[in-house]
Amino acid sequence: MTAPELFCPFCAAPMQRVGRELTCVIGEMSLSRRLETILLERFGGRARGDAPQPARGAALYCPACRAPLGEDLTCAACAGTIRDLRFQLIEFHPHRQPE
Ligand SMILES: [Zn+2]
Ligand SMILES: [Zn+2]
Repeated sequence: MTAPELFCPFCAAPMQRVGRELTCVIGEMSLSRRLETILLERFGGRARGDAPQPARGAALYCPACRAPLGEDLTCAACAGTIRDLRFQLIEFHPHRQPE
């Protein structure tokens, strides 16, 4: 698999460009411009194309490593964090629940 720009923080699926927006197709969620810019600055260019699909059950995942994030929303593998983005993500980016 070629590396995606980012993995979806909600379900760890590879995100795709739909038009201009970076989108989780499964979750029917597109990132806002602002959030996309921040996430790409932090995680872009190092998303791992070979990262395995993680087990379900975590609330949020690392957009680069696909690793489930703990309560502090910081990735144990790459030290990237989305802690400060939690509100923006959850309030403004409704994500369809996977079945
Ligand atoms: Zn998703
Ligand atoms: Zn990470």
